[in-house]
Amino acid sequence: MKITRIFAHRVELPLFEGTYKWSGGKSVTVFDSTIVGVETDTGLVGYGEVCPLGPFYLPAYAEGVRAGLRELGPHLIGMDPRELAKLNHRMDAALKGHPYVKSGIDIACWDLLGKATGLPVCVLMGGRFGESVRLYRAISQESPDAMAAKVTGYRAEGYTRFQLKVGGDPDTDIERIRAVRGMLLPTDRLVADANTGWTQHEAMRVVRAVRDIDVYIEQPCLSYEECRSVRAHTDHPFVLDENIDSLDMLLRAKADLAMDVVNLKISKLGGLSKIKQVRDLCVSMGIAMTLEDSWGGDITTAAIAHLAHSTPEEFRFTSTDFNSYVTVSTAANAPKRINGFMAASQAPGLGIEPNWNVLGPRVVNVT
Ligand SMILES: [Mg+2]
Repeated sequence: MKITRIFAHRVELPLFEGTYKWSGGKSVTVFDSTIVGVETDTGLVGYGEVCPLGPFYLPAYAEGVRAGLRELGPHLIGMDPRELAKLNHRMDAALKGHPYVKSGIDIACWDLLGKATGLPVCVLMGGRFGESVRLYRAISQESPDAMAAKVTGYRAEGYTRFQLKVGGDPDTDIERIRAVRGMLLPTDRLVADANTGWTQHEAMRVVRAVRDIDVYIEQPCLSYEECRSVRAHTDHPFVLDENIDSLDMLLRAKADLAMDVVNLKISKLGGLSKIKQVRDLCVSMGIAMTLEDSWGGDITTAAIAHLAHSTPEEFRFTSTDFNSYVTVSTAANAPKRINGFMAASQAPGLGIEPNWNVLGPRVVNVT
């Protein structure tokens, strides 16, 4: 099997809630997503998706995905997409860094490997653990009362895990955490995710002020060293996300006991092959994970479902059904949230088929 064409379509994904806001006044109203296709000489086509959370979250941006595909694509024509280690080796040799560009191609090649072998991606990634994958709901940054008011609706949808977008004014954030925790059952889990938004002294004030509350603290500050210092001064369960962007950083944070849970995003690490390596190491080292991506629609959600479903349940902290946040469905047969859970498809590959009628014109075409 040989790769004969790499192409991409740009699609806009508006949000049901109109806007999604997080630390530092950052927000997105319409996501700019790239659907990647890898065509082969057998007629089989694999699909992937890359959707940065705007250009100001991770070092990634939507037009960069397309530019990167044009740069990388010619190096991959003629390769066997089933040979995923060789494919990633070639990608890393041809383009230094830019893991998010490589992610869409790698996901599409896992889809092809599944289609070629007749197996779902989750089986190829280690096997299906349990019946379904538990999901969390992100609560966009609003006033404390507005955020608390949203919890009832999300709980009615079956969610029992919540990620509160904080990282703003620390006094308001303390109120946000108290107001939302007050709406939850003791068995619900609440994460206060500051997305690097607090300076160290602000983070210290917040964790001290909510000391009596059952809440996880996620990525309070920008640098790893600041986060470590906050971690050393709090007994809240601690999650690292933005700083853990490589295997090296994971190993460093593990050695430093710098986190209890790690948030792994497919495109942050460079695709399913790279995240599988980190995921498997986390399982071996006993670190629970939030398994997700930066954002996306149906194809990203399918990739998350296969990644999470092939992870032992005790190490799955949460995952995300991004396709339930956006108004456009980019693929048929994608996982759908049922009572706060989703499941990976039983069909070969990712188990999805793009909805061509909603995808825009082809914007990348490498042959
Ligand atoms: Mg996070």
